[in-house]
Amino acid sequence: MSRRGLFIRASSCSNGMMIVKLGGSVITRKDRYRSFRREVTRRLAGEIADSGERVMIVHGAGSFGHLLAAKHALHEGRRSEKQIPALARVMQDVRDLDMKVIKELADALLPAVSIPPAACARMKAGVLDTLDVRLFRDYIQLGAVPVTFGDVVLDDVKGFSICSGDQIIRMLAKEFAPKRVIFCADVDGVYTADPKSDQKAKLLRKVDSTYLRKLSRGTSYVDVTGGMHGKLSNMVEIAERGTEVLVINGLEKGRLRAALEGKEPVGTRVVGV
Ligand code: ADP
Repeated sequence: MSRRGLFIRASSCSNGMMIVKLGGSVITRKDRYRSFRREVTRRLAGEIADSGERVMIVHGAGSFGHLLAAKHALHEGRRSEKQIPALARVMQDVRDLDMKVIKELADALLPAVSIPPAACARMKAGVLDTLDVRLFRDYIQLGAVPVTFGDVVLDDVKGFSICSGDQIIRMLAKEFAPKRVIFCADVDGVYTADPKSDQKAKLLRKVDSTYLRKLSRGTSYVDVTGGMHGKLSNMVEIAERGTEVLVINGLEKGRLRAALEGKEPVGTRVVGV
């Protein structure tokens, strides 16, 4: 196999590096407990390797995390000791998913190393407070591909919290100022409304913080769900520090590779103002 990814060089700095988010909606079927999309993940791993770019990878938990976490209200923090077996189970499940992702990356000849957030992060009232970014920097410098994921993390106020892959990306982007952050979702980008429930939803090719402010004032002419709003404010914050942010459809062949190579695949560009 001749993957350009084989030749990822050790480097003394993180300049030129990119962050790729493999959304939980892409690598799992979100409505079926522990349903892994192996073929999709394999293709995406191949696209990353073929691009030859240096990356850090953050993946979502999808149906390995959200279903049980919601059932046991883990996002609300510690409320009863009955939650603890569920917490342990969710942590097992997301590690299991992570190993499946790591295997696909390794099969594409990417030297992927897993960095579980529970072992190197703390939260405060649901917000990521500290993350041992040296781990990421040092593995990148060794020439490895750091891989992390949405996880259950200790919280100094709530006991524990769900730490989303998006929160980790925000901190990594602040620390490393990557060239580009690419979010792979299961839809073509950011729409004027959820494209799965609104047939009239239109794909936005460009979104900025002005648009977001309109949303938060509640005077918006568009309807973006709360979840997507949270994701977008994260993205805008990253873009405002000068990093290119793209949202693309990871289920469509070739789009991730094109985005990694600086081409303009169908998708949404999130820009700072
Ligand atoms: P991931 O797990 O991949 O990070 P989510 O499943 O949390 O992402 O969010 C992606 C989903 O958000 C899409 O599948 C889509 O149905 C939904 N969604 C809601 N509103 C929008 C919107 N305005 N634009 C795009 N997707 C949206």
